[in-house]
Amino acid sequence: MTVLHYAEIAKDVSAMTVKPNLLDIERERQGWSWDRAKAGLDLPNGLVNQAYECIDRHAAGQRAQKHGMIWEGADGKVERYTFAELKRHTNRFANALRTLGIKKGDRVFFFADRIPELYFGVFGALKLGAIAAPLFSAFGPEPVRERVQRAEGVVIVTTPNLVAKVNAIRGQLPSLKHVIVIAHRQGKPVASGDLDYQRLVDAASDQFEIERTGQEDWSVMHFTSGTTGMPKGAAHVHGAVLGHLATGKYVLDLHDDDIYWCTADPGWVTGTSYGMFAPWSNGVTNLIYEGGFGAAKWYQVIQRHRVTVWYTAPTAIRLLMRAGAKVAKQHDLSTLRYVMSVGEPLNPEGVVWGKEAFGLPIHDNWWQTETGAIMIANYLSMPIRPGSMGRPFPGITAAILDDEQNEITAPMVEGQLALKPPWPSMFRVYWNDQERYNSRFKRGWYLTGDKAKRDADGYFWFVGRDDDVINTAGHLVSPFEVESVLIEHEAVAEAGVIGKPDAVAMEIVKAFVTLHDGYEPTNELRRQIMGHARERLGPGVAPREIDFIKILPKTRSGKIMRRLLKARELGLPEGDTSTLEED
Ligand code: AMP
Repeated sequence: MTVLHYAEIAKDVSAMTVKPNLLDIERERQGWSWDRAKAGLDLPNGLVNQAYECIDRHAAGQRAQKHGMIWEGADGKVERYTFAELKRHTNRFANALRTLGIKKGDRVFFFADRIPELYFGVFGALKLGAIAAPLFSAFGPEPVRERVQRAEGVVIVTTPNLVAKVNAIRGQLPSLKHVIVIAHRQGKPVASGDLDYQRLVDAASDQFEIERTGQEDWSVMHFTSGTTGMPKGAAHVHGAVLGHLATGKYVLDLHDDDIYWCTADPGWVTGTSYGMFAPWSNGVTNLIYEGGFGAAKWYQVIQRHRVTVWYTAPTAIRLLMRAGAKVAKQHDLSTLRYVMSVGEPLNPEGVVWGKEAFGLPIHDNWWQTETGAIMIANYLSMPIRPGSMGRPFPGITAAILDDEQNEITAPMVEGQLALKPPWPSMFRVYWNDQERYNSRFKRGWYLTGDKAKRDADGYFWFVGRDDDVINTAGHLVSPFEVESVLIEHEAVAEAGVIGKPDAVAMEIVKAFVTLHDGYEPTNELRRQIMGHARERLGPGVAPREIDFIKILPKTRSGKIMRRLLKARELGLPEGDTSTLEED
């Protein structure tokens, strides 16, 4: 029954140099117990703190002198930190925050590139019981304002190259008490009124008693885009670390001597769950590369640091494919034993190309901000069906539901992808929006907002989003957030924003705007509007294309019909337009 465009990729576990932690997915599923999985954590006195489980317990044991972090800067400079050093750095920042009066539950935002202090800062905040909320450094001032305001952030930790964006909006953030600037790496002065990270930590003790946090205490917050309205703050709890530990062990297949590299930025959930918590809860050396994408550069990073396990994204894979397998072969990538990707559908061609370039197929897996950890995966020991996201993690029940939330059991029938709550890393709330949170749960299921199919053997196949959210290079963008900024421009009357399919980034942000009377749809005006959007939203969120149109299609109740804009853009049938107000 299964439709395969590419032949299944069989696995020969006996030929693998490292024996996978998960050998038989079905057996693991039948015997699975989250309680038993807890044996991999310390949980002193029944408490759980992600920073303790990821850093301090290793610093107190045999891994104290093991490198927890290898950092390579954008300029090629390398720094290494043992777990014992990570403990001291994070303790200092926790003390610094405490001295400033920051307390358990306060929201501490991080708006910085991938530098070591970002990691010290996040774990310092977690030790204090504060909620760590990292933001993507490519954001413009507007997404920063929206998120800090929504979560009533108390602190923003940033760097001199980004502080101007904070300055542009700080007058609109009444909750904000402190801006801490990590200045020493850029050799720039800290403006009066702001706090110098280095001075704060220099004055702080490297001893810290971790706040007593339990399983349900808040830990991190990530903002994610939904069907309507502005991005919402999905808040997670310290108990989520059990999910990171278990998926780190069984999906990422982490072993003690691995050198692991996750290319995601901590501004997105993959960059915390798998760029911090999964490797460190497993006591594994975590490579962090500050620089951006570059095929040869990335291969040099793998070669230089002898990376064994690599977790990246489909857009990156497609760019690597474009650069060609030859570039890969010019490097010594022989240490690599396992490659995975997440964030968007991975084309079957990409899975197979991995074999050509690295001698390793690429393993797709699926999850989202709200799930906190990987839910569906292609495991190292399991045959891959190229184009499929794989099968649910042992402790997870996934299903395909129809519109009434009845389970569809027939194979390869499209429906809503749903998960059976609870699981340890599940988000616990959309910050200040309980109603919206509740709306994600129906008839005993968590509704993911994705459409998928399941084949007769239990492999899940991604079909598409069930809403208007745009997925550009693995980053979700809310059309509403972009539209709101576009209509700030004096010439723009209304705006409708869609994801336009793109061969590399999956989708790009495309806007349709109508103009106020007196404005002409010229290229110069298009450039101006584009410039406004880039300045306010940042290059990762702003539209890459803007079309002028006369009328935006809307429903009778006034909602922009993005679905119709998209159908027209793609020359597809317009579907049900009975609610259309336009004509
Ligand atoms: P985020 O919450 O930003 O991590 O985005 C999660 C969304 O990205 C999912 O709901 C999917 O729409 C998409 N996504 C993540 N992983 C995959 C995958 N392996 N295949 C297809 N779509 C994915």
